[in-house]
Amino acid sequence: MKKIIFATGNADKMKEIREILSDLDAEVLSMKEAGVQADIVEDGKTFEENAVIKATAICRLTGEVVLADDSGLEIDYLNKEPGIYSARYMGENTDYHVKNGNLIERLSGVPDEKRTARFVCAIAAAFPDGSVKTVRGTMEGRIGYEEKGENGFGYDPIFFLPEYGCTSAELSMEEKNKISHRGKALQAIKEELR
Ligand code: IMP
Repeated sequence: MKKIIFATGNADKMKEIREILSDLDAEVLSMKEAGVQADIVEDGKTFEENAVIKATAICRLTGEVVLADDSGLEIDYLNKEPGIYSARYMGENTDYHVKNGNLIERLSGVPDEKRTARFVCAIAAAFPDGSVKTVRGTMEGRIGYEEKGENGFGYDPIFFLPEYGCTSAELSMEEKNKISHRGKALQAIKEELR
């Protein structure tokens, strides 16, 4: 069976990734399971660049096929902030209630039609022959007026999905995975790996 390493330390992501890639004839390993430790500086200017930096670094270290992702929230009214800085916005250790409250504040008085936003996920696949492929998945929505919902993580409680009439924090994990940026990007990279 082929081996694929997914360059993440996040156990929840690994669960989702394994589920979506389960019909590939491959063993999907986390960095920890693959016995890889690396501190990689993500200094790319786009989601794709950051995903490629991570995937190629681990591929060079291991000689295996490596996948890596980079994701974040783009708010159109804020010139696509927080974007690639989503995790670091207002500080890596700042509580998301504070980050979400700040973004709502920055949009105060902004009408519905200008509150458009999207979650973006880029996934890169790096192959031992030096080739690299990238894919992108997005989920479109709007920034709400208050936090709603207990599921998900990060910016989910302020990410309103007009078609569903709720935030992505009010969807079950299964419902979110079907429509999420990460779910779509994982499906797309699966096609590239076949
Ligand atoms: P990373 O790609 O795992 O580093 O995620 C980047 C950051 O984007 C996360 O720390 C969150 O702030 C945000 N983010 C990415 N995907 C989601 C999501 O599905 N829900 C909420 N926040 C997200």
